[in-house]
Amino acid sequence: MALLLRAATWGLSSGRGYCSRGTQGSLREVFVAALRAVVGPPHVSTSIAVREQHGRDESMHRCQPPDVVVWPQNVDQVSRLTALCYSHGVPIIPFGTGTGLEGGVCAVQGGVCMNLTHMDRITALNLEDFSVVVEPGVTRKALNTHLRDSGLWFPVDPGSDASLCGMAATGASGTNAVRYGTMRDNILNLEVVLPSGQLLHTAGPGRHFRPGFWPSLPALYVLGSRKSAAGYNLTGLFVGSEGTLGLITAATLRLHPVPEATVAATCAFPSVQAAVDSTVHILQAAVPVARIEFLDDVMMDACNRHSQLNCVVAPTLFLEFHGSEQALVEQLQRAEEITQHNGGSHFSWAKEAEERSRLWAARHNAWYAALALRPGCKGYSTDVCVPISRLPEILVQTKEDLKASGLTGAIVGHVGDGNFHCILLVDPEDPEELHRVEAFAQQLGRRALALHGTCTGEHGIGLGKRQLLQEEVGAVGVETMRQLKATLDPRGLMNPGKVL
Ligand SMILES: Cc1cc2nc3c(=O)[nH]c(=O)nc-3n(C[C@H](O)[C@H](O)[C@H](O)COP(=O)(O)OP(=O)(O)OC[C@H]3O[C@@H](n4cnc5c(N)ncnc54)[C@H](O)[C@@H]3O)c2cc1C
Repeated sequence: MALLLRAATWGLSSGRGYCSRGTQGSLREVFVAALRAVVGPPHVSTSIAVREQHGRDESMHRCQPPDVVVWPQNVDQVSRLTALCYSHGVPIIPFGTGTGLEGGVCAVQGGVCMNLTHMDRITALNLEDFSVVVEPGVTRKALNTHLRDSGLWFPVDPGSDASLCGMAATGASGTNAVRYGTMRDNILNLEVVLPSGQLLHTAGPGRHFRPGFWPSLPALYVLGSRKSAAGYNLTGLFVGSEGTLGLITAATLRLHPVPEATVAATCAFPSVQAAVDSTVHILQAAVPVARIEFLDDVMMDACNRHSQLNCVVAPTLFLEFHGSEQALVEQLQRAEEITQHNGGSHFSWAKEAEERSRLWAARHNAWYAALALRPGCKGYSTDVCVPISRLPEILVQTKEDLKASGLTGAIVGHVGDGNFHCILLVDPEDPEELHRVEAFAQQLGRRALALHGTCTGEHGIGLGKRQLLQEEVGAVGVETMRQLKATLDPRGLMNPGKVL
């Protein structure tokens, strides 16, 4: 490795100024040539279109694009590129699939964007140990397609087909988290290229157990004794680090048995309060629901139009149950009783895979359905999460605030986790509206903090929530994070401007 690092940086001592900017503000050609020497000329681009495509995600955050985009083909190249950038003071921005919602890939100080999608192999599948090792270009859908006949699956499902290592980097979750947990609960080990170019295996090379145990998730009990108490939880440190501590070049993930049977259900409610009360009661009754998602009336209307559904336009819960045929009958019955008790109507369910996927495709396309409410506008998604007991009050209040604000927005949420999103539509050319949207989001974030919640359940901090993070973890918390960052990234070159 030392030899390789030397080769990558040969002839490029920072004293010769190779990292300084050229006349157009881009990196000097000799530095770009050194990048090409590592990955080969076809895997480096300085074209404006490619750089702009890599300088933004699905959010409305915008800033300058990276100076250059590189596509490493293997971990060794990632190490050499990282050491090269680091020794010349050039910022490094990891890029997964660019579906993030917090501006995580924006190149606030320019630099080198490392697109990791060419590293897309599934390198090990341990069926008996319920684990799999994926490179950073593997997406969640690609993994589940690969697993199709294995009897196992990976349940964490953000609506987008994100890269699994990008999901690790943002601490992602999705509709199944209420039963199967988030990325934090499903990562057993990470291979990380540190800013120095060194390779770290967060749980030790080749190991696939996770530190700690998660007693509140019944599905994980099935998998038994995978645990470790060996030292600090380095895996946990990198999950949610948003590319600010290193580049994740492989993830060992926990797999789950495919449930014997699955039923999806929907139920409409007379009010937001009634829908959320039902959620709380279903969880309190210990119904082992796999998914429980809330959509408000505006969102339902948007989904009906976008996905050609014919659902009642009212606050609605989408539910899913996993288990044996007999267990499903009981779960459905109990959930229906609870929803009826709260004034729910139109309780309908579907067992056929086609109908279930149509329903969940509509839910997963909610972001695009909301965007279609105001063509030409951008979406801004809030992401607060509160203890489940505080969910009814914050959701009801948010709905009222939304009406009073005059903004166009829809609410959709992983309410089983206490997490929900207001998808606000904003004309990017209208600074006054932009300001109102940001003010609304900040106010909602602060309300969640006041209820002992968090400003982000799953999208991360990125560019827009740094102030809220400080309020959430406090001065000592932020200082501790700064010290950790400075230890691993003393020159502050890993995805600068994000998180802290
Ligand atoms: C329609 C839609 C629905 C969504 N629904 C959800 C949802 O339900 N739940 C949810 O959690 N998210 C959701 N998201 C957000 C998004 O899909 C997640 O944040 C996802 O985890 C981002 O993965 P990515 O590969 O696209 O990462 P990117 O957008 O490419 O990057 C995100 C951040 O991670 C860093 N990063 C990426 N790859 C690596 C790596 N290999 N090593 C180190 N750092 C890296 C980047 O630098 C950046 O800071 C949704 C997005 C869309 C568009």
